[in-house]
Amino acid sequence: MHVSPRIAALKTSPASLLAKQARELRSAGRDIILLSSGELDFPTPLHVIEAADRAARAVPVGYTDVDGSASLKEAVREKFARENGIICGQDEVIICNGSKQVMFNGLMATIAAGDEVIVPAPYWASYLELVAFAGGTPVVAETNGKLTPDALEKAITPQTRWLILNNPVNPTGGVYSARELAALADVLRRHPHVMVMSDDLYEHIVFDGAAFATMASAAPDLAERTLTVNGVSKAYAMMGWRIGYGAGSRALIANMVKVQSQSTSNASTVSQAAAEAALRGPQIEISHNLASMTQARGKVLEAVRMMPGLAMEAPMGTFYAYVSCAGLLESRTAEGNGLRDDRDVARFLLDEGGVVVMPGADCGLSPYFRINFACLPETLDRALAQIGRAVAMLA
Ligand code: PLP
Repeated sequence: MHVSPRIAALKTSPASLLAKQARELRSAGRDIILLSSGELDFPTPLHVIEAADRAARAVPVGYTDVDGSASLKEAVREKFARENGIICGQDEVIICNGSKQVMFNGLMATIAAGDEVIVPAPYWASYLELVAFAGGTPVVAETNGKLTPDALEKAITPQTRWLILNNPVNPTGGVYSARELAALADVLRRHPHVMVMSDDLYEHIVFDGAAFATMASAAPDLAERTLTVNGVSKAYAMMGWRIGYGAGSRALIANMVKVQSQSTSNASTVSQAAAEAALRGPQIEISHNLASMTQARGKVLEAVRMMPGLAMEAPMGTFYAYVSCAGLLESRTAEGNGLRDDRDVARFLLDEGGVVVMPGADCGLSPYFRINFACLPETLDRALAQIGRAVAMLA
């Protein structure tokens, strides 16, 4: 079969490959705990399900406008104004199939061959592939967790089209303050050809009272060249409903709508009704879920710090622990095999602990592994005990 060069070079999302591997092992009878995913083990709020039920009973369940139903777009505009101080018109927002499609549309609408996109490392692995798929070149900027103005300045070239900024950061849990964003904005003002893609998907998952900030409000003069990306997946545990949304300039959004009109058309009409209920309805689940995740974070910190060879800092946001496994790289398994890198460590934790983790190599910073702690307390307890037992077997 002939495969296009664009697809031949594309990597499948590591999280989905790990999830598939876990499913296969489970169906072969192994007891496997999946901590590599980006999902929260919480239910969709009931009022959201009821709104979806009503929408599903409409006759017909028709298409909406490609860029989303007028009422969901209105709810998104209100959300941006209320929570982020971002004021945008009806034609400056778009509703997509997940925030991933917002970014896909944004890149497809703007990238030409040779264009560069700055991606701070460590990163969510899909950024690199989305950029490459659109025909651009990802330029990875090394960071100590968060991009500094100096590192940004060094990474910018005349070919730079976008900076992708993820806040809070998957996988390290770093949270940029408004002041840190303002310092990055100072650099961007000197380079008017660079646009900013602000991936705010984990906005509501910040700990210890840390304040969330986003570029379009930290530097309002840059709003015209910022695409603010968000969605309901992580805020409301609605990963599978596939609704993301974005706000940007009228011209950018119009071109993104063109991309979507010839690919998926509108996001699911039923899911749009659900997302509207989530955005407009009671927000209490956000704080309930955050309270559970705060407890889980404490549990992970305590457990990991007791495990020889592992170390971690407390994440300030997201539901991931990015665990350094540098201290395991000299060790040997009972069979005498050495652990050379974080892929070996992940393999070992799966073989000996029955726990799937995401190797740092897939996030652009090694030797680490990422674990998701937005799971049921009993699952997390069991996973931590199994990781602890596996690590203790190393010599
Ligand atoms: N951005 C980040 C940083 C993510 O971790 C994810 C998913 O895990 C996404 C975007 C995509 O999420 P969705 O398409 O469900 O909105």
